[in-house]
Order: sequence, then C-alpha cells, then structure tokens
Amino acid sequence: MPDQTTVPDQTTVPDQTTVPDPSFTAGLDVLLIDGQLVPAAGGATFTTSNPATEEVLGAAADGTAAEMDAAIGAARAAFDQGAWANDRAFRARCLRQLRDALVAHGDEMRALTTAEAGAPAFLTAGPQYDFPVEDLGYYADLAEGYEGWVQDLGERETFGIVSSRSVHREPAGVVGAITPWNFPHQIQIAKVGPALAAGCTVVLKPAPDTPWCASALARIVATETDIPAGVFNVVTSSDHQVGAMLSKDPRVDIVSFTGSTNTGRSVMRDASEHLTKVFLELGGKSAFVILDDADLSAAASLAAFSACTHAGQGCAITTRLLVPRHLHDDVVEIAVATMGALAAGDPNDPGTICGPVISERQRDRILGYLDLAVEEGGSFAVGGGRSERFDKGWFIDPTLIVGLDNTARVAREEIFGPVLTVIDYDGDDEAVAIANDSPYGLSGAVCSGDEERAFAIAARIRTGTLGINGGIWYAADVPFGGYKQSGIGREMGVAGFEEYLETKSIAVAR
Ligand code: NAD
Repeated sequence: MPDQTTVPDQTTVPDQTTVPDPSFTAGLDVLLIDGQLVPAAGGATFTTSNPATEEVLGAAADGTAAEMDAAIGAARAAFDQGAWANDRAFRARCLRQLRDALVAHGDEMRALTTAEAGAPAFLTAGPQYDFPVEDLGYYADLAEGYEGWVQDLGERETFGIVSSRSVHREPAGVVGAITPWNFPHQIQIAKVGPALAAGCTVVLKPAPDTPWCASALARIVATETDIPAGVFNVVTSSDHQVGAMLSKDPRVDIVSFTGSTNTGRSVMRDASEHLTKVFLELGGKSAFVILDDADLSAAASLAAFSACTHAGQGCAITTRLLVPRHLHDDVVEIAVATMGALAAGDPNDPGTICGPVISERQRDRILGYLDLAVEEGGSFAVGGGRSERFDKGWFIDPTLIVGLDNTARVAREEIFGPVLTVIDYDGDDEAVAIANDSPYGLSGAVCSGDEERAFAIAARIRTGTLGINGGIWYAADVPFGGYKQSGIGREMGVAGFEEYLETKSIAVAR
C-alpha cells in the first residue's frame, strides 16, 4: 500500500532523533537463513543511507545467489517437512508474539524507519509502522478463525455414484516476497503476515534502499519469537538479480511482488518459466475528482495534502487532480496555499508531512519530470524544484502543475514525488473518462456534496480502492490492489489471505 493519507493523532507522534539507536542498529549486517543470522558470503556488505542527510547509516549484508539458493531451500524444507503448515494455533501464537515484540521495539523501529526510508515521524505512528504491526493480530485471528478452511458441499449422485464433496483450503507453499522501499514495514507485513498465517513459508527480499527495515525484522523473528527455522528467511542484497531468482526457482510456489510496473512485468516473465503464481502490487496514477458541488476548500486541501505525504512516494496517492473547468482558479488557489504550507521538512519533526525522497537517483528522476512538464507546456502554480531549505538531503518542494491535459506524460506516468497535476474537465462523464484514461487503476478519490452522486461516479472508475469525501479505506480487513497495469490480486483483508491458499476438492464415495 498504501499510502492513503492517514493522519494519526499528533499527540501520539513520538519525538525521534536523526540517528537511530546505535545499540539497536549494530549487527544488522546479517541475513536470516534457516533460523540463523549469518553474514553474506565473504562478509560482503553494502551501505544504507539517510535520505534526509545523505549520511551513511551503516552496512547491510550483500546477499548473493548462494545465500538466496540456501534461503529458498530452507523455506522449502520448512514447508514440506515442518509442522508449520498444519498447526494453525501455533501460527497464530507466533504471529501475536511477533506483534508484541515489534510493539516493544517500537521506538527503535520508528526511528530506524525515519532514518532509512525518510518516513516522516507522523507516518511511523501510522501506516509506516504502528498500523502494520497491529495488523499482525488480524492475520493471527484469520489463521484461527478463517471460515473457509473446509467447506462441505454435501452429497451428489453422478453416474450412479453418490459422493460427499468437500472443499479444503491449504497453504500454497513457499512464498518469495519482493518489496520496495517506500513503506517498508507496511509492505513487508502485508505479505509476510497473511503468508505465515496461511501456513506458507517465506523468503523476503527487500529493496536495496531499505535493507535494515528488513534485517531488523529478521533479527526480532530469530531472537524473540518461536517461528521455526526456515519458516521466515530474509536475504538483503544490492543485486536485483538475487531477488529475480525467486521468480525463476521452481521451489517457490508464489511470488508476491510490490514495486514498479516495469519490474512487475519482468517478474511475470521470469515466473512464466515454471508457471509460478504471481501476485503483483504495482504503480498508480490515481485521480482525485472534485465535483462541482463539493466543499472546495476541504476537497482541494485534502488533495494537496495527500500529494505531499511522504513526498508523494506512495503508489495509491492521487496525483491527478480533476477539476470542473469553471472552478479551476478557486481550486488552484486553495491547493497552492496548502502545498506552500507543507514545504519539505526534516522527517524527524512531528509536524513534517513531506520529507525527503529516497535517493539522489529518485530526486533526479523527479526533477526530470518537472523539466518535462515545462517542455510539454505546463507551468508550476507552486514549487517546481529542489527545496532550498536544505544543503543536504534529497528534498523536493511540493509542486502543483497546471496548464496541461491528460495526454501529457506527467499526467500519465508515475512520478513518485510530491507532484500533483491539475486537469480540467467539463461534466461528470468527462471526469470519469479522464479518470479511466490511464494505464493504471490503483486508487482514487471523489468529493461531492451529494454522496449518491459521488458513489455513482466511484462505481464508474476502474480502480481497486476509492475514498469518497475523505473516507479512509486503509485497514487490515480491507483488500488493496489494482485494476489494469496496477497489478494482479489483492493484498490485506480475507482476499489477501486467500492469495496464499490453494484449493483442494475431495469427493468420498458413499
Ligand atoms: P522497483 O520495481 O524498482 O523495485 C521493487 C523491488 O523489486 C526491489 O526489492 C528490487 O530490488 C526488486 N527488483 C528489481 N528488479 C527485479 C527483478 N528483475 N526481479 C525481481 N525483483 C526485482 O520499485 P521501487 O523503485 O523499489 O519502488 C517504487 C515503485 O513501487 C513505484 O512504481 C510504486 O508505485 C510501486 N509500489 C507499488 C505499491 C503497490 O502496492 N501497488 C506499493 C509501493 C510501491
């Protein structure tokens, strides 16, 4: 996910320091393979850095093909030979144990997340840490309470034979989980939680930009839970091809991938060799539709706020603002005021909404899109470049692009920065057409004074999640995922849990 704008109560936002606790981050240069915290071959490491300061935080283990091979082997053996797949009560207990350990380490983990991912502190009290940790309890409850484990279909006579039929849901096997850097804990837990609850075993390969968020999880699993050896493995690596092994190895039953649409294509191609099931959460270019009867002030400032959150590094953030043509100036004025007040800031500051972007490469990519917006004939109502408040760090000021229509590349391609493009429309039908005129279909928003009218528009937009008048869909029990090139399958909720199950039908002759 997720990156729907969820604003925790500011009084719960912790004070954080720029440097995470060194006694906690010491020794995070390890992999977790078959229950052991081990260095990479030859002690190889790569550095992880703080995007707000450009300072090196420390070293992560640089896993190679040999370690990935061992991790897949360990997960396979733990699934095929261990008790994990068959003991739901034990799995539920382990997941609650993990949740409690992650809660106990909350201060260190939140500070680490701000330092490594540049996540504003207010988000670590929400979807960047506290919410997904809490979600582990939901997955534990599902392991025990899921009603679909066995379904009795009763008897039926076929060719004179009476059979009693039942449908059984079983853990699907070994899961290769590949994650991006923008919401490291949320995305890790949204894969690992339901996969483990279902009875699968997991190899997690995190993004090279946020390895410590995964190795800290690995260490807590290894040292503070009863999760058996081989059930959960973590291989950090600077080499994307080490992650690609998960899509190519026939010992892996499901590849659960979150990242860019292009990488998703590559995962699907690789997985086709063995027809490995793929589960893909990909990019987005979601529309925020303001209808002509909306509370303009609330709607325009919400759209602007959302685009700035975590510097726009959220796949579900609404990055196209669809505005009735005659209300363009009013909406832009409000959005400019909001974005101007949300200038990029120190992510440790509890009041910061827009922190740094993850890396120099990503910063330059966003700046390239801003140049493109001007080349395409657009202009900036606010922002438009690097933040001048900082000498160091990858900061971009919130930017509102005007003067373009939905054919512009900046209106079609995912920028993954604090950039919102205003697009004018005439009438509800055109608003829907523009919202749907995108290769993506991940999320969206509609604001209207008339809820029924907003619902009617929402029903016509081809997208996996949608908020009406600021409604927040993000929660453990709500499925999240995309239409079209935003992905295949659903994460979270019962639908997300069922992604990690196989279906077996059995008939017994009577
Ligand atoms: P990315 O696609 O570059 O990388 C994601 C992960 O894939 C990383 O762990 C990377 O090492 C790995 N990887 C790279 N090449 C691979 C290959 N050939 N085979 C297997 N794994 C490979 O994405 P990113 O830059 O880390 O993250 C940003 C992108 O992720 C954005 O496009 C964003 O929209 C998307 N995203 C989607 C969701 C969602 O739920 N839909 C959530 C967050 C981010």
